[in-house]
Amino acid sequence: MGKGKISVHTDNLLPIIKKWLYSDKDIFIRELVSNAQDAVSKLKKLSALGEATLSDGETFAIHVAVNKPAKTLTVSDNGIGMTEEEVEKYINQIAFSGAEEFMKRYEEEKDDQNRIIGHFGLGFYSAFMAAERVEIETLSYLPDATPVHWSSDGAVEYEITPGTRTERGTTITLHIAEDSTDYLEKHTVASVLGKYCRFLPVEIYLTDAEETVEPDENGEVPAQMPVNDTHPLWLKNPKDCTDEEYKDFYRKVFFDFNEPLFWIHLNVDFPFNLKGILYFPKLNHEFQTIEGQIKLYNNQVFIADNIKEVIPEYLMLLKGVIDCPDLPLNVSRSFLQNDGYVAKVSGHIVKKVSDKLNSLFKADRSAFEGYWDDINPFIKYGCMRDDKFYDRVKDILLFKKLDGSFVTLKEMQEQDKKEVYYVSDADAQAQYIALLKAEGEEPVLLNNMIDNHFISFLEYKINEVKFKRADAYVTGEAKEGDADKALAELFGACVPEGMKVEVQDLASDKVPAIITLPEEARRYEEMSRMFGQGGFTMPKTEETLVVNAKNALVQKISGVADEQTRDLICRQVYDIARLGHKDLSGDELTAFIQRSTEIMEKMI
Ligand code: ADP
Repeated sequence: MGKGKISVHTDNLLPIIKKWLYSDKDIFIRELVSNAQDAVSKLKKLSALGEATLSDGETFAIHVAVNKPAKTLTVSDNGIGMTEEEVEKYINQIAFSGAEEFMKRYEEEKDDQNRIIGHFGLGFYSAFMAAERVEIETLSYLPDATPVHWSSDGAVEYEITPGTRTERGTTITLHIAEDSTDYLEKHTVASVLGKYCRFLPVEIYLTDAEETVEPDENGEVPAQMPVNDTHPLWLKNPKDCTDEEYKDFYRKVFFDFNEPLFWIHLNVDFPFNLKGILYFPKLNHEFQTIEGQIKLYNNQVFIADNIKEVIPEYLMLLKGVIDCPDLPLNVSRSFLQNDGYVAKVSGHIVKKVSDKLNSLFKADRSAFEGYWDDINPFIKYGCMRDDKFYDRVKDILLFKKLDGSFVTLKEMQEQDKKEVYYVSDADAQAQYIALLKAEGEEPVLLNNMIDNHFISFLEYKINEVKFKRADAYVTGEAKEGDADKALAELFGACVPEGMKVEVQDLASDKVPAIITLPEEARRYEEMSRMFGQGGFTMPKTEETLVVNAKNALVQKISGVADEQTRDLICRQVYDIARLGHKDLSGDELTAFIQRSTEIMEKMI
């Protein structure tokens, strides 16, 4: 027993750690509770090996208690306990030098905004983030053990004296510092436990010294409920789980009251240990950007959401839990990124997800089609981010036609389709759709934010296929007869400077003219609008006014003797084409309305 100096080589370890980890301060509770949980599981293992004896019917629990008057927070377990030598070794040496090591890593990665080490914990020492003094009362499971008391302010000195504990286990008492009194509030501690310890395997009870529990009408004190669920669904054998259980778990964990579409239960024991459930969420409305959430656990202890080093980024559009018991937690980010185990985990998840999608497609194509509106952004994003994923799902990539039926990319390729027409807005592009249909073309609907990128990606992957939006459609060759040239000239005088005019035989005689825009030019404009300052608008010179030689009105124009009337009609036809392209500006619209009135006036 006695006093000693802790063998830490950095004098001001504590203030630095405090400063760096300020935003992750809550994790000290997770660290202490998971140490308590480890202490219990170690004892259970020893007992299973016959190396420790337990009393009959002994139950294990972790008690967390706040005491505002005493300004303490305690975490108590009935696990393995520690002998004096163990306190010396594990607390004074390992925990403190662990903190030192931790700090070095942090210093190296100081510029890294992603505080991954914070997520992965600092161990026992993190108690000093909220406490000015920490005490340990512990009694080892060993038959001849004596209780030990340890106390330290986290700087360089500690004190070990005989303890008072009479039952096996460990109590850690934190004398909460002035700047951390929030941790004396039961609801604060409850929310941290809810976040990090909700699925821990040992029951956790939270009490407040100032709260008295009233006996019920029979004079009995009601049994306290643990704050955690010790048997999370992901640990159950998938064949024993019901749909209702999966949905219920989803609601409870993600507070999403839309039912998930379907889910994948990951349950791997070999060659590594990996458990979890991934849900495909339902989007609330068509244009919602999906925001998933993948919670990463290590042996049922929550680590963090959306750790992109472990889970491929595009999978984060899903919602789910993943428990990787073998994840090397006390390592730096760069290590995780290069770690073979982590890569295997991630590869396995990708395989499972694509297997599930393929089996859904095969088992019930129409159900799969029913999911498509919700899952397609995820699948498309995944394809673009990960070649392996693309290879696994490319045969089940779907395209929705305007009548609601679907065609796969593979089927399209089998039909040897080189040009795929698509529509991004069925209302705005109605004129073009009508023309395409008259041509016997069946455009597909691509109206997601991601589609622009996705079709470029597909064109790159399968280089003989080209996607064209309906308004990039041109039926055929420009007509070059004298009358056609003259007509084009008439229109040329009415369209903006530099805009091309062509006369063609369009598939339908209903429309007098359409405006077409080359696919590449439009995509370029959309991309630059997305990434640039938004100031770039397509010059009208990229567009072509295609005048329909089959249309009855157009056929009469050249014969109109009165120049003013001819001009009026040409301008009106141009504006109608623009209207069909849904982009008349305010001034253009005003002129269009005035002219329409004028025309009607002439008729009566
Ligand atoms: P880690 O848990 O990563 O090993 P910590 O700094 O959290 O690092 O703890 C150091 C060691 O102290 C633990 O490995 C364990 O041996 C011991 N220890 C901490 N808390 C307890 C506890 N409640 N009961 C028994 N031993 C404990």
